[in-house]
Amino acid sequence: MLKIKDLKASVDGKEILKGINLEVKAGEVHAIMGPNGSGKSTLASVLAGRADYEVTGGSVEFLGKDLLDLAPEERAGEGVFLAFQYPVEIPGVSNTNFLKTAVNEIRQYRKQEPLDSVTFLNIMKEKMKLVEIDQALLKRSLNEGFSGGEKKRNEIFQMAMLEPKLSILDETDSGLDIDALRIVANGVNTLKSKETASIVVTHYQRLLDYIVPDFVHVLYNGRIVKSGTKELALELEEKGYDWIKNEVKAGS
Ligand code: ADP
Ligand code: MG
Ligand code: MG
Repeated sequence: MLKIKDLKASVDGKEILKGINLEVKAGEVHAIMGPNGSGKSTLASVLAGRADYEVTGGSVEFLGKDLLDLAPEERAGEGVFLAFQYPVEIPGVSNTNFLKTAVNEIRQYRKQEPLDSVTFLNIMKEKMKLVEIDQALLKRSLNEGFSGGEKKRNEIFQMAMLEPKLSILDETDSGLDIDALRIVANGVNTLKSKETASIVVTHYQRLLDYIVPDFVHVLYNGRIVKSGTKELALELEEKGYDWIKNEVKAGS
Protein backbone atom coordinates (compact mmCIF):
# COMPACT_ATOMS: atom_id res chain seq x y z
CA MET A 1 0.00 0.00 0.00
CA LEU A 2 2.65 2.52 1.09
CA LYS A 3 6.32 2.43 0.16
CA ILE A 4 8.57 5.09 1.61
CA LYS A 5 12.10 5.03 0.25
CA ASP A 6 14.97 7.09 1.60
CA LEU A 7 12.65 10.00 2.29
CA LYS A 8 14.39 13.23 3.23
CA ALA A 9 12.67 16.44 4.22
CA SER A 10 13.61 19.84 5.61
CA VAL A 11 11.89 22.59 7.53
CA ASP A 12 13.31 26.11 7.25
CA GLY A 13 16.36 24.70 5.50
CA LYS A 14 17.09 22.27 8.34
CA GLU A 15 17.06 18.60 7.44
CA ILE A 16 14.65 16.76 9.75
CA LEU A 17 13.97 13.50 7.92
CA LYS A 18 17.29 11.97 6.94
CA GLY A 19 16.29 8.93 4.94
CA ILE A 20 13.12 7.16 6.06
CA ASN A 21 12.38 3.68 4.77
CA LEU A 22 9.03 2.11 5.57
CA GLU A 23 6.65 -0.27 3.92
CA VAL A 24 3.03 -0.64 4.99
CA LYS A 25 0.76 -3.33 3.61
CA ALA A 26 -3.03 -3.43 3.65
CA GLY A 27 -4.36 -4.88 6.89
CA GLU A 28 -1.41 -3.71 8.97
CA VAL A 29 -1.16 -1.34 11.93
CA HIS A 30 2.25 0.29 12.35
CA ALA A 31 3.24 2.23 15.45
CA ILE A 32 5.94 4.86 15.20
CA MET A 33 7.59 5.78 18.46
CA GLY A 34 10.67 7.72 19.39
CA PRO A 35 12.04 10.52 21.55
CA ASN A 36 10.73 14.06 21.25
CA GLY A 37 12.04 15.99 18.27
CA SER A 38 12.91 12.88 16.26
CA GLY A 39 10.76 13.84 13.30
CA LYS A 40 7.59 11.80 13.90
CA SER A 41 5.18 14.68 13.33
CA THR A 42 7.29 15.86 10.42
CA LEU A 43 6.88 12.46 8.78
CA ALA A 44 3.10 12.56 9.29
CA SER A 45 2.95 16.09 7.88
CA VAL A 46 5.05 15.23 4.84
CA LEU A 47 2.80 12.26 4.07
CA ALA A 48 -0.28 14.49 4.31
CA GLY A 49 1.37 17.09 2.08
CA ARG A 50 1.33 20.01 4.47
CA ALA A 51 3.04 23.19 3.36
CA ASP A 52 6.25 24.26 5.17
CA TYR A 53 7.84 20.86 4.65
CA GLU A 54 10.25 20.55 1.78
CA VAL A 55 10.93 17.08 0.47
CA THR A 56 14.58 16.98 -0.56
CA GLY A 57 14.97 13.35 -1.53
CA GLY A 58 13.49 9.89 -1.79
CA SER A 59 10.07 8.68 -2.84
CA VAL A 60 6.67 7.76 -1.46
CA GLU A 61 4.45 5.41 -3.40
CA PHE A 62 0.82 4.97 -2.36
CA LEU A 63 -1.16 2.26 -4.15
CA GLY A 64 1.17 2.58 -7.11
CA LYS A 65 0.98 6.37 -7.34
CA ASP A 66 3.63 8.94 -6.54
CA LEU A 67 2.12 10.43 -3.39
CA LEU A 68 4.53 13.36 -3.28
CA ASP A 69 3.26 14.47 -6.67
CA LEU A 70 -0.31 14.92 -5.34
CA ALA A 71 -1.84 17.96 -3.66
CA PRO A 72 -3.13 17.38 -0.09
CA GLU A 73 -6.77 17.16 -1.24
CA GLU A 74 -5.77 14.68 -3.95
CA ARG A 75 -4.07 12.56 -1.31
CA ALA A 76 -7.31 12.58 0.67
CA GLY A 77 -9.16 11.58 -2.49
CA GLU A 78 -6.78 8.66 -2.96
CA GLY A 79 -7.61 7.54 0.57
CA VAL A 80 -5.01 9.03 2.90
CA PHE A 81 -6.35 10.45 6.15
CA LEU A 82 -4.34 12.43 8.66
CA ALA A 83 -5.75 13.15 12.07
CA PHE A 84 -4.03 16.14 13.56
CA GLN A 85 -2.94 16.74 17.06
CA TYR A 86 -4.88 20.02 17.19
CA PRO A 87 -7.79 19.88 14.78
CA VAL A 88 -8.90 23.25 13.49
CA GLU A 89 -11.89 25.01 14.93
CA ILE A 90 -14.32 26.40 12.39
CA PRO A 91 -16.91 28.63 14.06
CA GLY A 92 -20.26 28.71 12.27
CA VAL A 93 -19.70 25.49 10.36
CA SER A 94 -21.39 22.51 11.96
CA ASN A 95 -19.52 19.30 12.21
CA THR A 96 -22.16 17.64 10.08
CA ASN A 97 -21.88 20.14 7.26
CA PHE A 98 -18.12 20.02 7.37
CA LEU A 99 -18.18 16.25 7.01
CA LYS A 100 -20.75 16.28 4.24
CA THR A 101 -18.57 18.64 2.24
CA ALA A 102 -15.48 16.55 2.92
CA VAL A 103 -17.18 13.28 1.98
CA ASN A 104 -18.60 14.74 -1.23
CA GLU A 105 -15.29 16.30 -2.22
CA ILE A 106 -13.70 12.88 -1.97
CA ARG A 107 -16.56 11.35 -3.95
CA GLN A 108 -16.17 14.00 -6.63
CA TYR A 109 -12.46 13.22 -6.86
CA ARG A 110 -13.41 9.57 -7.37
CA LYS A 111 -16.00 10.56 -9.99
CA GLN A 112 -18.86 9.31 -7.78
CA GLU A 113 -22.20 11.05 -7.42
CA PRO A 114 -22.49 13.26 -4.32
CA LEU A 115 -24.51 11.74 -1.47
CA ASP A 116 -27.97 13.20 -0.97
CA SER A 117 -28.91 14.36 2.52
CA VAL A 118 -30.94 11.29 3.45
CA THR A 119 -28.25 8.83 2.44
CA PHE A 120 -25.62 10.93 4.14
CA LEU A 121 -27.59 11.05 7.39
CA ASN A 122 -28.15 7.29 7.30
CA ILE A 123 -24.45 6.63 6.89
CA MET A 124 -23.80 9.09 9.68
CA LYS A 125 -26.14 7.27 12.04
CA GLU A 126 -24.47 3.97 11.29
CA LYS A 127 -20.98 5.35 11.92
CA MET A 128 -22.12 7.21 15.02
CA LYS A 129 -23.07 3.91 16.59
CA LEU A 130 -19.82 2.35 15.50
CA VAL A 131 -17.60 4.93 17.18
CA GLU A 132 -20.07 5.85 19.94
CA ILE A 133 -20.25 9.56 19.32
CA ASP A 134 -23.02 11.73 20.68
CA GLN A 135 -25.41 13.40 18.23
CA ALA A 136 -25.08 16.72 20.05
CA LEU A 137 -21.40 16.87 19.11
CA LEU A 138 -22.24 16.71 15.44
CA LYS A 139 -24.55 19.72 15.55
CA ARG A 140 -21.98 21.96 17.15
CA SER A 141 -19.48 24.08 15.26
CA LEU A 142 -16.47 22.07 14.20
CA ASN A 143 -14.22 21.51 17.21
CA GLU A 144 -15.27 24.80 18.82
CA GLY A 145 -15.08 24.40 22.58
CA PHE A 146 -14.59 20.66 22.30
CA SER A 147 -12.77 19.01 25.17
CA GLY A 148 -9.67 16.97 24.39
CA GLY A 149 -11.67 13.77 24.52
CA GLU A 150 -14.42 15.20 22.30
CA LYS A 151 -11.86 16.27 19.72
CA LYS A 152 -10.41 12.80 19.70
CA ARG A 153 -13.83 11.20 19.37
CA ASN A 154 -14.62 13.58 16.55
CA GLU A 155 -11.36 12.80 14.80
CA ILE A 156 -12.16 9.10 14.91
CA PHE A 157 -15.66 9.83 13.66
CA GLN A 158 -14.21 11.81 10.73
CA MET A 159 -12.02 8.83 10.01
CA ALA A 160 -15.03 6.48 10.07
CA MET A 161 -16.99 8.75 7.72
CA LEU A 162 -14.19 9.28 5.22
CA GLU A 163 -13.35 5.55 5.08
CA PRO A 164 -9.67 6.10 4.33
CA LYS A 165 -7.42 3.36 3.06
CA LEU A 166 -4.49 4.65 5.07
CA SER A 167 -5.01 6.50 8.35
CA ILE A 168 -2.19 8.42 9.96
CA LEU A 169 -2.78 9.37 13.58
CA ASP A 170 -0.29 11.61 15.29
CA GLU A 171 -0.88 11.22 19.01
CA THR A 172 1.69 13.51 20.48
CA ASP A 173 2.45 14.80 23.92
CA SER A 174 -0.71 16.88 24.20
CA GLY A 175 -1.83 15.61 27.59
CA LEU A 176 -4.15 12.91 26.37
CA ASP A 177 -5.83 11.22 29.28
CA ILE A 178 -6.55 7.51 29.42
CA ASP A 179 -10.11 7.99 28.18
CA ALA A 180 -8.93 9.87 25.10
CA LEU A 181 -6.33 7.19 24.41
CA ARG A 182 -9.04 4.54 24.68
CA ILE A 183 -11.25 6.43 22.22
CA VAL A 184 -8.44 6.56 19.69
CA ALA A 185 -7.55 2.93 20.25
CA ASN A 186 -11.14 1.70 20.00
CA GLY A 187 -11.55 3.68 16.80
CA VAL A 188 -8.45 2.22 15.21
CA ASN A 189 -9.39 -1.28 16.30
CA THR A 190 -13.02 -0.95 15.16
CA LEU A 191 -12.12 0.46 11.77
CA LYS A 192 -9.32 -2.03 11.14
CA SER A 193 -9.89 -4.22 8.11
CA LYS A 194 -7.99 -6.31 5.59
CA GLU A 195 -8.20 -3.49 3.07
CA THR A 196 -7.04 -0.64 5.29
CA ALA A 197 -3.88 0.25 7.17
CA SER A 198 -2.95 2.64 9.96
CA ILE A 199 0.16 4.41 11.07
CA VAL A 200 -0.11 5.46 14.69
CA VAL A 201 2.49 7.91 15.90
CA THR A 202 2.90 7.97 19.64
CA HIS A 203 5.42 8.26 22.34
CA TYR A 204 3.10 6.68 24.81
CA GLN A 205 3.66 2.99 25.16
CA ARG A 206 0.33 2.93 27.00
CA LEU A 207 -1.59 3.67 23.79
CA LEU A 208 -0.25 0.35 22.60
CA ASP A 209 -1.90 -1.37 25.57
CA TYR A 210 -5.11 -0.80 23.62
CA ILE A 211 -3.97 -0.87 20.02
CA VAL A 212 -2.03 -3.95 19.11
CA PRO A 213 0.32 -2.92 16.35
CA ASP A 214 1.67 -5.42 13.87
CA PHE A 215 4.94 -3.50 13.76
CA VAL A 216 6.65 -0.97 15.98
CA HIS A 217 9.30 1.39 14.61
CA VAL A 218 11.59 3.72 16.47
CA LEU A 219 12.28 7.01 14.78
CA TYR A 220 15.36 8.75 16.07
CA ASN A 221 17.18 11.71 14.61
CA GLY A 222 15.28 11.55 11.33
CA ARG A 223 15.71 7.85 10.68
CA ILE A 224 13.94 4.62 11.59
CA VAL A 225 16.66 3.03 13.63
CA LYS A 226 14.84 -0.03 14.91
CA SER A 227 11.77 -2.04 13.95
CA GLY A 228 10.06 -4.90 15.69
CA THR A 229 6.75 -6.19 16.93
CA LYS A 230 4.78 -5.08 19.99
CA GLU A 231 7.46 -6.58 22.22
CA LEU A 232 9.72 -3.73 21.13
CA ALA A 233 7.23 -1.26 22.60
CA LEU A 234 7.30 -3.15 25.90
CA GLU A 235 11.08 -3.11 25.88
CA LEU A 236 11.02 0.65 25.27
CA GLU A 237 8.70 1.18 28.17
CA GLU A 238 10.98 -0.76 30.43
CA LYS A 239 14.32 0.59 29.24
CA GLY A 240 13.59 3.97 27.65
CA TYR A 241 15.38 5.17 24.54
CA ASP A 242 18.98 5.52 25.74
CA TRP A 243 20.00 2.02 24.71
CA ILE A 244 18.76 2.74 21.20
CA LYS A 245 20.62 6.04 21.07
CA ASN A 246 23.74 4.18 22.19
CA GLU A 247 23.26 1.52 19.53
CA VAL A 248 22.99 4.25 16.92
CA LYS A 249 26.15 5.94 18.24
CA ALA A 250 28.06 2.65 18.27
CA GLY A 251 26.97 1.91 14.73
CA SER A 252 27.92 5.24 13.22
P1 ADP B 1 8.48 14.67 16.99
O1 ADP B 1 7.10 14.67 16.46
O2 ADP B 1 9.20 13.38 16.81
O3 ADP B 1 8.55 15.15 18.40
P2 ADP B 1 8.87 16.83 15.11
O4 ADP B 1 8.68 16.23 13.76
O5 ADP B 1 7.75 17.60 15.67
O6 ADP B 1 9.34 15.69 16.12
O7 ADP B 1 10.13 17.77 15.07
C1 ADP B 1 11.40 17.35 14.59
C2 ADP B 1 12.33 18.54 14.53
O8 ADP B 1 11.88 19.44 13.54
C3 ADP B 1 12.41 19.32 15.82
O9 ADP B 1 13.75 19.71 16.00
C4 ADP B 1 11.51 20.52 15.55
O10 ADP B 1 11.93 21.63 16.29
C5 ADP B 1 11.69 20.71 14.07
N1 ADP B 1 10.48 21.27 13.44
C6 ADP B 1 9.32 20.62 13.22
N2 ADP B 1 8.41 21.40 12.63
C7 ADP B 1 9.00 22.62 12.49
C8 ADP B 1 8.59 23.87 11.95
N3 ADP B 1 7.37 24.05 11.44
N4 ADP B 1 9.49 24.89 11.97
C9 ADP B 1 10.72 24.71 12.48
N5 ADP B 1 11.18 23.57 13.00
C10 ADP B 1 10.34 22.52 13.00
MG1 MG C 1 7.10 16.59 19.57
MG1 MG D 1 5.32 15.06 17.27
